[in-house]
Amino acid sequence: MAIGAMLGDILRSLFKRPVTELYPFQRKPAPEMLRGKLMYDPSKCSGCQLCIKDCPADAIELLVVDKVAKKFVMRYHEDRCTFCAQCVQSCRFNCLNMSNEQWELAQLKREPFEVMYGRDEDVQFLLERAARAETGNVECGA
Ligand code: SF4
Ligand code: SF4
Repeated sequence: MAIGAMLGDILRSLFKRPVTELYPFQRKPAPEMLRGKLMYDPSKCSGCQLCIKDCPADAIELLVVDKVAKKFVMRYHEDRCTFCAQCVQSCRFNCLNMSNEQWELAQLKREPFEVMYGRDEDVQFLLERAARAETGNVECGA
């Protein structure tokens, strides 16, 4: 490109608004159908595991606290998720959806990518059971 033409472009650009967005200082609302972080509602879950079977990335697990009382905890591996929404489609009880508000998921460490969804007391129960197993104090029937 001739230097004259380039100078013209540079001068014109000096008086134009930038076409880029000043993210993260300026944010636009995300599109309604954006597939962000997977969300899980344990209150409606039947424990059928269809979502787990259909996930192509092995990104979700269902941990059983009490099958009869339908108490489940979902372990979600954000770093494996391809955000395909197959699990959302597969669930017949509308327990799953993909947030269009939580989509800035970058992390410096791997640990935060593992998310436990469920009632607080159920998550606590599983964490305590795992801690007991690690120290070798596993209760019978646990
Ligand atoms: S969105 Fe796709 S990859 Fe992510 S958990 Fe659901 S089925 Fe698996
Ligand atoms: S498909 Fe729905 S109801 Fe079945 S285990 Fe998954 S979240 Fe629960």
